[in-house]
Formats: sequence, C-alpha cells, structure tokens
Amino acid sequence: MTILKKNLLTFEKLELERLVQDLRMPKFVASQILNWLYQKKVNSFEKMKNISKSNRDILEKQFSILPFKKIEKLESKEKNAIKYNITLSDDQVVECVVLIEKKYTSLCVSSQCGCPVDCKFCVTGAMGFKRNLTMEEIVGQFHFAQSEGYNVTRIVFMGMGEPLLNYSPVKHSFERLTGESFYNLSRRNITISTSGYLAGIKRLIDDKWFVNLAFSVGSTQSLVRQKLMPLEERNPIAKVSVLLQQYQELHNRKLTLEYTLLKGVNDSLQDVAGLIRLAKYLKAKINLINLNPHKCIPFTPLSSIELNKFKEQISESKIPVTIRFRKGQDIAAACGQLGDSQVKK
Ligand code: SF4
Repeated sequence: MTILKKNLLTFEKLELERLVQDLRMPKFVASQILNWLYQKKVNSFEKMKNISKSNRDILEKQFSILPFKKIEKLESKEKNAIKYNITLSDDQVVECVVLIEKKYTSLCVSSQCGCPVDCKFCVTGAMGFKRNLTMEEIVGQFHFAQSEGYNVTRIVFMGMGEPLLNYSPVKHSFERLTGESFYNLSRRNITISTSGYLAGIKRLIDDKWFVNLAFSVGSTQSLVRQKLMPLEERNPIAKVSVLLQQYQELHNRKLTLEYTLLKGVNDSLQDVAGLIRLAKYLKAKINLINLNPHKCIPFTPLSSIELNKFKEQISESKIPVTIRFRKGQDIAAACGQLGDSQVKK
C-alpha cells in the first residue's frame, strides 16, 4: 500500500503486458495477474500462487493492489452493515458500507471525499468537500469488500459525494465494474444517485449513458428545497425534472425518487401531493428515507406512525413506494451519516 507504487487497478491488459515485459517477465504474467485480481479478487501478491515467488517479490516492489494506506472496519450489532473507514494516500478518509440483505449483498460506495453539495440533512455535506476520488479509489472500495469475502452483487453510488460532479472517474469505474474482462457485474445492479446536478444529467443524455438513476428530492417546493439543498438555486427542481424526464424517455430503467423525511419540514399534505405529482410526471418509484439523526444535523425524523401514514398516502395514488430500512445506525453507516469519523475531528 505504498503511495509511490503504481496501482494495478488502473491498468488494462495491454498496458500491463508491457509493464511486466519491462520487468523481464513473460507476457502471460499479465493475464495471471488480471485473473487473480478480477476473478479471484485477491488483495495481496502472496496469494497469486501460480506466479513465481521471485516475480511476486518484484511485482510487490513495483505495484500496489489497493490505492489505500489504511482501512478500519466497523460492524453493526445486527451484523448486517459493515463500514470501512478508508485512509487514502494523502491521508484523507472516505467511508463505504457493505449492506447484507436477505437475498444479496450491496455496497454503498463513495465517489468524492466529502461533498460540495452541502445538503443540510447529510453528515457528508457538513464535512465539506476535500477532493474527487480517482477511478481506482472508487473501484478499490469494491475490490476490498470482495477480498474480505463479501459477495457484493449490487452497487449504489450513494456514499460520500455527488457522483455527477466527478463524472469521468465515476463513468470509468462503472465500466470497470461491469466490464467482461474486469468485474463483470450486471449494469442493472448499479445505481447512481444524484442531488439533481443539471450539467451532469445533461452529460448522461449526451453520452447516451443509461444507468439506474436515483434522484434525491429533498422537497418539491423550490423555496424549501433551497434551504435544504443549496444547489437548488442554480439547479432548480423544475428544470431538473424536465431534464430527468428527457433522460427517462431514452431508456427503460425506472427512476427512483429518494425522499429524506424531516419532521415539520417536508412532511405536510402539500409535500405528499408534490411528491406524487413529481413521481407521476417522471413515472418514478419512491424510496422514503426517514432521517437518520446525527448531532450535526438540525432536524428530527418522523415517528413510525407518521412515516407509515406518509407512505400510505403515496400508496393510495398507486405509485410504487418503499421505506428504506435503517441499517448500521450504531456505527454511523446509515444513509446520510457517512463522514461521521471526520466531523468528529
Ligand atoms: S446527500 Fe449526497 S449530494 Fe447531498 S451532501 Fe450528502 S453526499 Fe452530498
């Protein structure tokens, strides 16, 4: 994990073949390395048993497998959420979370260290923005979780950061995660969440890059949204909705509206009506997230009765709606809580 070493996750086959040949190894060693990385998901050279010990020693001096300095693991009491606090090469820290569901395991990855969007219901926003992550730092989160034995088959870009503000590395990591000669995950099992960054959605359209998209609504009322999500000023929800509608017309993946509920702020009858209208317009499903409280967030969640009532009102309009189950609150791994280890400092 030394920073000056080249990181293996950055290379494609041809580049790696050239590099191993420069080290006076046969070309096929590159295929062996790629097989250990992407099929067997190892995170040490020692485990690459069909490569000679002398060649493994040379490789270890030249390359790193994960672009990280240190990884701290936290596990929730129910053992269904595992959070990794990952120290990057420049000592910045990002977090990602493995979520164990009944039928599958998913990983919530970070695309930025901190976040410039500053949503007022999110700890990452309170942490501020440090920097964008590279492709290998994004993919490395998945690689590490796999090397720990978690069979992650779904990925959500809902960790730290606004993915569309780090567009190219996020797209590159998407290609790595789904590429046949890399991790070969199903494109349908990857979701990218956005707070509604117009230029990013426009780029998705221009690139014809069709992904499962989740849109974090905050509030359908512009003035309330501005207070909760300052990006509303330059990215008004009315324009975002029109652009999202254009994007949705181009492919057949259903959009998800993520709605973080804040007591007395965005939970009125008017708010339900606005959310239903938006979901109908975008033919979207709704995922309700009751606020996961944190001492640096100035809001409170709904009671379970209020939450269910809000959900029922949506259900009555025949719009698919779910409530996101809270996992990992005890280790600050639940939605909106990432960055806890940094805001404490
Ligand atoms: S909710 Fe997402 S976009 Fe908003 S501050 Fe948090 S990480 Fe950034």
